[in-house]
Amino acid sequence: MTDYVRPDIAVMSGYVPGEQPPPGKYVKLNTNENPYPPSPAVSRAIAEAVQSGLSRYPDPLCTAFRLRAADVLGVPPDWILCGNGSDDILTIVTRTLVGQGELLRLPYPSYVLYRTLADIQGARYEQVHFDAHWGLTAEFARVVPDLKLVFLANPNSPSGTMVSREQILELAARLHCPLLVDEAYADFADTNCMDLVAQNPKIMVSRTLSKSYALAGLRFGFVVAHPSLIAEFAKVKDSYNCDALAIAGATAAIGDQAWLLDNRRRVLATRARMAQLMRELGFAVEPSQANFIWCTHPERPLQPVYEKLKANHVLVRYMNYPEWGEGLRISVGTDEQVDACATLLKVILNDGAHGTN
Ligand SMILES: *Cc1c(COP(=O)(O)O)cnc(C)c1O
Repeated sequence: MTDYVRPDIAVMSGYVPGEQPPPGKYVKLNTNENPYPPSPAVSRAIAEAVQSGLSRYPDPLCTAFRLRAADVLGVPPDWILCGNGSDDILTIVTRTLVGQGELLRLPYPSYVLYRTLADIQGARYEQVHFDAHWGLTAEFARVVPDLKLVFLANPNSPSGTMVSREQILELAARLHCPLLVDEAYADFADTNCMDLVAQNPKIMVSRTLSKSYALAGLRFGFVVAHPSLIAEFAKVKDSYNCDALAIAGATAAIGDQAWLLDNRRRVLATRARMAQLMRELGFAVEPSQANFIWCTHPERPLQPVYEKLKANHVLVRYMNYPEWGEGLRISVGTDEQVDACATLLKVILNDGAHGTN
C-alpha cells in the first residue's frame, strides 16, 4: 500500500518520542515531565468544565486562556495563539512560513522534532552544529536564499544550556526570516526572551504547559508573536485545536503563579543536588537551565549504562548524535527518584570498573 503514499513521507523515519511505559514500573526520568502534581486549581477547573457540559464546540481562540496569560506575561492577548501542546504550535508555524522545497534552519544537537516537521512539509532543512560549549556559531545567522524559518530551543535540549538574550536579538537582526525561540523549559531558567518579541517582530516565543506546569498529559502550548503573524497562524491551525477541558485546565494552571514559583524552587534545588551527585560519579555535567541535566562520561560507553539502569527500573534518555557524541539526558525527578538513580549508577559504574557484568 505504500505506493499510494507521498514518496517523501514513505522514506522518512518519523519522530520517535521517549518511551511511555505503563505507570508504576519505572522511576521515570526520560521525558522531562514534572515529578509533582499540578496546581489543585487545574482539576477543579476541569471538573467544572465537565459539569457545564461538552456538547458545544470549544472557543476556537481560547480567549479565557489568552486573557489570563496576557496578564501573567505582560503581552497583549492578540499576540498569543494556543495549540494542542507546543508541538502543535511548531507544526502550525512551519506550515505557515515554510513552503515545499524551501529551507528551515535548526541547531544540532537539539530537539529532533524540528527535522521531522521539515520532512512532513516537504521542506529542506539545514542543521547547524553548536560549538563545543553549546554556543551558536556565525553560521547560524548566515543569510541564504529560501531560508524561511529558524528554530532555536532555549534552553536547549538535550544540553540544558542557553543562548543569551543579546545573541538572540543580534541573530534576529541579521536573519531575513522569523526566528522561533522554543522556550519549553524557560520557567526553569534565569532569563527568557518573552519581552524581545515586542523589540523585533521576527522573534517569536513558544511555551508549553507540559513541563513547568506538570501538564504533559493535558496537551497545551502557545506562541507569542507579532499580531500580523498570529492572524496568519490562525488560518492554518485546526479550527478547534484545543479542547474545552484543556482550555479550562490550562487557564487555571497559568493563573496559579504561586504554584509555579514553588515548583520551580523545588526542581531547581534538586537539579543542583543531582548535578553534584553525577559529577561525583565521574560524569561531565553541563550547567543546566532546564529540568534535566546532560551527562557525558570521559571514559565509559553510556549505552550499556542506560540499559543496566533500565533493567533495574530506572528510565533515562540515552542519546547518540552522529558527528557529536553520546550522553544521558536525565530529568529532574523528586529527591527520592534522583537518589535511586544515583545509587544504582554507582553500583553499575563500579561493576564495570572491576571487569564483571
Ligand atoms: C517537550 C518539548 C516540547 C513540546 O512540548 P509539548 O507542549 O508537550 O508538545 C517542545 N520543545 C521542546 C524543546 C521540548 O523539549
